[in-house]
Order: sequence, then C-alpha cells, then structure tokens
Amino acid sequence: MLKKQSVTDLVRADLEGKRVFVRVDFNVPFENGQISDDSRISEALPTINYLCENGAKVILASHLGRPKGIDDSLRLTPVAKRLAELVQFPVQKADECVGSAVESQVSGLASGSILLLENVRFHKEEEANDPAFAKQLASLADLFVLDAFGTAHRAHASTAGIAHYIPAYAGLLVKKEIEFLDNAISNPKRPFVAIIGGSKVSSKIDVLRKLLSVVDTLIIGGGMTFTFVKAQGGKIGNSLCEDSKIGEALQFLEDAKKLSKKVIFPTDEVITQDFSNESPSQIVNVHNIPDGWGGMDIGPDSIELFNDVINGAGTVLWNGPVGVFEMDNFSKGTFAIAKTLANSSAITIVGGGDSASAIRKANLSEHFSHISTGGGASLEFLEGKELPGIQALKDK
Ligand code: AMP
Repeated sequence: MLKKQSVTDLVRADLEGKRVFVRVDFNVPFENGQISDDSRISEALPTINYLCENGAKVILASHLGRPKGIDDSLRLTPVAKRLAELVQFPVQKADECVGSAVESQVSGLASGSILLLENVRFHKEEEANDPAFAKQLASLADLFVLDAFGTAHRAHASTAGIAHYIPAYAGLLVKKEIEFLDNAISNPKRPFVAIIGGSKVSSKIDVLRKLLSVVDTLIIGGGMTFTFVKAQGGKIGNSLCEDSKIGEALQFLEDAKKLSKKVIFPTDEVITQDFSNESPSQIVNVHNIPDGWGGMDIGPDSIELFNDVINGAGTVLWNGPVGVFEMDNFSKGTFAIAKTLANSSAITIVGGGDSASAIRKANLSEHFSHISTGGGASLEFLEGKELPGIQALKDK
C-alpha cells in the first residue's frame, strides 16, 4: 500500500484554478530525430487528465537524456508536440524551466490547460538537488505531484527537493507502480516466482537476497549465472564472471537451502568464442563450458525448464534479460520467456529496463499485468529501500 497521499485525495475544490507542478518522466527514446516509443508520455496521461478535468493549471517538468548545460538536441519540443496529440487540453511549451519568462507564461495559464517546461537537467542544480533551484521551481505552483516513477529513486530538485516547499502528492502512475510492486512482495498469489537476469551479481545481489525471503522459486539467468556456476565448481570458459562475488554467491545458495527455497539456474547455454552476433555458436551444459568460449543465451532445455516453472506460478516478477538479447542470435531465451509470461494466467510484473524493452519489441506489452516504467526505481523498491521522491510526499 502507498502510505502517501495521491492526486485522488484532491477533489475539484482543491484543484480548480490551482497551479499544479507535475514531475513526469518524459525521457523518451528517439530514432532519427523522431520519438520511437511514446509510452512514457501515455503513462502520465491519467494524472494529467485528472488534473485538467478538475480545473487545475498543469505545469509539467521532465528531464530528457543527460545534457551538460543547454543542449538544443535535448529540448522537449518534440515531446510537447506528441503530448498535444495525445491530450484534449491545450498544451504550451516553455523555453526554460525557471525565470521571468516562465513565470509570466504560468500566470497566463488557463484552468484545464498544460505548460510543459524545458528539460530540467539543463541546470546542473537539478541533479545536485540545489535548495534554491528547488525553491524556484516550487514558486511556480501551489501543489506538487510526483508522477515520474523512473526517477523517484533519485533525490533531485524536481523530484524530492521541491516537496519541501509546497504540498506534495503521488501521481496515479507512481501510485499504480508502488501498489503493484508492493502487492507482489507483501501479498503475492502463490506460487510466487521471480526471474532475475542481467549482467552482474554485484548489481542484483541485494534484490536477490530480499526476494529470497518472499518468493517460492527464484530463477537466475543471464550473465550472473556464471559467477554462481563457478562458485559451485563448474567450468565457465570465458563467460562473464565476478570473481570477487563468488563468496557472496555461495553464501546466497546456502541461505536459500536453509530457507528451503528453490533456486533454479539454466542447465544448458548457447556459447560463442567472440562476443558478437555473427560468432558461430554451440549449445553445451552450463557447468562444462570449454576454455575460449563464453555463455551468450540460455539453451532450449533451460527454456523448457523455465517455462514449466512459469506455467505453474500464481505471480511472476521478471527483471533482467537471460541472454545478450541486444544481439538477434542470442535473444531467443529472453523472447521465449516474454512469450511464456504473456500467455500465462499468472499475475505478471516486469521491473522495467531491458526486460520491458524486450516485451515492447515483441509487441506483448498488453498481455502483462504490470510493466514498470522505472528499472532502477523498481529494483531499489524491491530491495526494500525508501525512494527519496516517494519519501518526500505527504503522509496519509
Ligand atoms: P542489467 O542491466 O544488469 O539488467 O543487465 C542487462 C544486460 O545483461 C544486457 O545488456 C544483456 O546483454 C546482458 N547479459 C545478459 N546475459 C548475458 C550473458 N550471458 N553474458 C553477458 N551479458 C549478458
């Protein structure tokens, strides 16, 4: 449960004519100068529509990319254009996010209309969570709404800093994200299966440890596999491995045994000699990878094994690809899992990032119960960390 107030705790009388500063995550991908996926914009629409329908003056702020100072290629102008096509309310765009020109645009804003500010990361004060900058942003509005789940784990001026100066509420996307993730770990329909892939043990060990106490079965795949295999005495050739994490990997497996939790690894692996899509491959036992070869994707037996576990699950949480899915020849395992999950009757929750992009690439998004918009944020939430952006909101 979200223990914070959300926009739906505000009724028309609280919102009509009020200036509401909404931090959204419009950090959309571009291909050849065009927005290639506008899902981050559409995910924010429920909050924007709710505010406009209730007569608020909506001021939107977002980051885009990683600018170092003002960068014309990272202006939010194309985003404003796309937003205007998606909402029924008037949309204006500002060329800045603070300053007198923005202030006068805000004072001319009509109820039920939208002003999109310029990329907040054009100011280094944003990521530094500079109090003066946060105060300047806050001075534009009467209320603050956080709807950028993807940046909720960062204490920036427009995500957490601003909440010190004006009353702060969760947006509908943030509310939905927290409720799905929280429900999965505190009250899952069982059996609860988590599939954790990705490259490194070091970035996932905290979430693995946390999940161990709540799941029934844990499936581990991807580059992380080989540190665990080596820890158990297997031959991994030149597969990805973090030797410094072997001790932690062994400890993790012992803890799992003590808790009688099933931890399942790939049994077979597609291997190559070079880390390239064109490199010839073969399929071998994951504990017996020859010298000079490295694991790139799970093999057919592992796909079958993982599918069987998924098909018996009540809830599945998935974070991280099980192979180098960016290379077509080694994306089979990740897409097979995406397909099985899409066809499963379980509650299926995806923790954003690469697994979410694989699902979108396969056009399977609508077959999932929830796909998080924040890879890093959902991981930190699942680890049990408090997200600074959420912490700063008004308590219920
Ligand atoms: P993460 O950001 O930790 O979720 O890791 C995602 C990355 O893991 C992707 O870029 C994958 O290419 C990579 N990955 C998955 N499986 C392997 C593997 N067997 N070897 C190397 N990298 C992998």
